[in-house]
Amino acid sequence: MLVVCAIVFVVGLMRGEPPLLMLLTAVSLAVAGIPEALPAVITVLLALGARRMVEFNALVRRLASVETLGSVTWVCSDKTGTLTQNRMRAEVAVHAQGLTWHAGEAAPAASELLRAAALCNDAQPAPGGGWQGDPTETSLAELAAAAGLQHEALDAELPRVGEQPFDSVLKRMTTYHQAADGVVAYTKGAPEAVVPLCEAAWHAEGPRPLDAGEWTRQAEALAAQGLRVLALARRDFARVPDDDTPASEVEGRLQLLGLVGLIDPPRAEAAASVRECLQAGIAVAMITGDHPATARAIALRLGIVSDAHATVLTGAQLAKLDDATLAARARQVRVYARVDPAQKIRIVQALQSQGELVAMTGDGVNDAPALQRADIGVAMGRGGTDVAREASSLVLLDDNFATIAAAVREGRRIYDNIRKFVRYAMTGNSAEIGVIFLAPLVGLPLPLLPIHILWVNLVTDGLPGLALAAEPAEEGVMQRPPRPPTESLFARGLWQHVLLVGLLLTGLCLGVQAWALRSGNMHWQTMVFTVLTLGQMAHVLAIRSEATPLWRLGLRSNLPLLLAVLLTFLLQLATIYLPVLNPVFRTEPLSLGELAICLAAASLVWVAVELEKAWRRRHAPARLQPA
Ligand code: ADP
Ligand code: MG
Repeated sequence: MLVVCAIVFVVGLMRGEPPLLMLLTAVSLAVAGIPEALPAVITVLLALGARRMVEFNALVRRLASVETLGSVTWVCSDKTGTLTQNRMRAEVAVHAQGLTWHAGEAAPAASELLRAAALCNDAQPAPGGGWQGDPTETSLAELAAAAGLQHEALDAELPRVGEQPFDSVLKRMTTYHQAADGVVAYTKGAPEAVVPLCEAAWHAEGPRPLDAGEWTRQAEALAAQGLRVLALARRDFARVPDDDTPASEVEGRLQLLGLVGLIDPPRAEAAASVRECLQAGIAVAMITGDHPATARAIALRLGIVSDAHATVLTGAQLAKLDDATLAARARQVRVYARVDPAQKIRIVQALQSQGELVAMTGDGVNDAPALQRADIGVAMGRGGTDVAREASSLVLLDDNFATIAAAVREGRRIYDNIRKFVRYAMTGNSAEIGVIFLAPLVGLPLPLLPIHILWVNLVTDGLPGLALAAEPAEEGVMQRPPRPPTESLFARGLWQHVLLVGLLLTGLCLGVQAWALRSGNMHWQTMVFTVLTLGQMAHVLAIRSEATPLWRLGLRSNLPLLLAVLLTFLLQLATIYLPVLNPVFRTEPLSLGELAICLAAASLVWVAVELEKAWRRRHAPARLQPA
């Protein structure tokens, strides 16, 4: 810019223009040519986007993430609560003595299994009815209550005197209860964490032999239906084992009471959002602590995998893979089961090493490292911990997977609009530079005064540019592949557009100037000034979409922009026709014919850009068509 300004200044002096005028021209050219508003406008665009995203429950914690969201290629989501409703319900209870109860049948009998479900449970009755606590536990409390087991009466009969709290690595918990003749211990947890600890099947009249293999198969079969299966067991002690007895000793030699299968229905909108992501070229992977068969069944229902035999990588298998093998396999795996949160960071790293841009959800303290490492860490606003939120860049206020898809769509829209602003502002600048720089070279007098340049820069670039923030998403934003994260802002023809359209507008301005001078028209300077302003208005209307023609978009689909263009047009007319402004702007009122010529020249910019868009629809459709 400085070189261009220096050349303009020197060439002007050599042609005998007044030095002060040439100095002002050079300085105003620098003001016009340097896009000094760019950082501010981009920040405003991102901030407006972030505000809109809060309206649909996506809270952006780092402004720059709005842009990153647009190029996410991989979403790793927790299952429970994000893809599913986290509202569990008992579906089936299988008793060790043989009786099986299914949801929909008459109320279950008050069995020992259900007493265990009620007692080995931290759910509390909620003040307004129902239960509060972990959904797994509230659903068991509900089941027991349905069988007529009174929470308070049970508690009085068998008060809790000790516990081994739930541990997500051991996947089980144990509580101890004081009975008249000793202590009863109830253990509940994942079948593979409880059944191997059992030595017998419980029966009211004394223990019976246990077929552990058969029970494991039953549990697998229930899990394959998408159920979360818990095994419950009991053991009698003379007194509560003291604290220094190892857990392996107290949680052993159990008597199996039976299995309970819980259903956590998928969220209604989750399947559609998964489909939207897939269409947008974004892979979706599900990560859960649940059983592989449960995980696969739910993934199948949500469309995350389409094959009933799809690979499920378990935490135990994951632990055996080294980083290189995991990296090589990560792209084939869409379901991770029995994973503990600390393993999530390895999944993120494996995908990132393959060039993927990863969004990862999490809610617990253990999730924080993975959230921090992911390109977009997504925390839960309702269920999550503060630690997870601090480590995240996006918070889902409704804990809902669909909000991630909506945030990606919005991120893409905003990035597109930033590109539109850059396209608009830089093309205008290149035309302003072109007009001042080229006129002397083709032997024309100085076309614009400093005040004109400043006016064009201030009024034309400002309002309509900002109004581009209100531009709705492009047609098919979620049907094209993600933008490569390394792609330049000027990629896909943007800088060529800036140069060519800038040159076209320059040509139109200088053409009108030359024609007016040739025919002895005294208004040539006002006409150049007007063509330059109106040409940019025509341009901003044309670049509202990268490919869709304006007549399909309709003028009313971006009212702020329409108003900004009309206002700029009226202001321009004011500089020409208001007598008080004529001396300020050194303008003269144009005749109707002259104004018509300016309008016609300006609309050629629109025609040219529509032709460019038509060409792009035909020849570069890769980014515009379904992935
Ligand atoms: P996630 O919530 O991601 O599915 P969790 O670590 O909460 O993973 O649960 C892992 C497994 O531990 C579950 O599949 C279930 O078998 C068992 N489990 C979960 N909650 C409880 C609980 N409150 N008591 C006993 N076992 C549980
Ligand atoms: Mg859980």
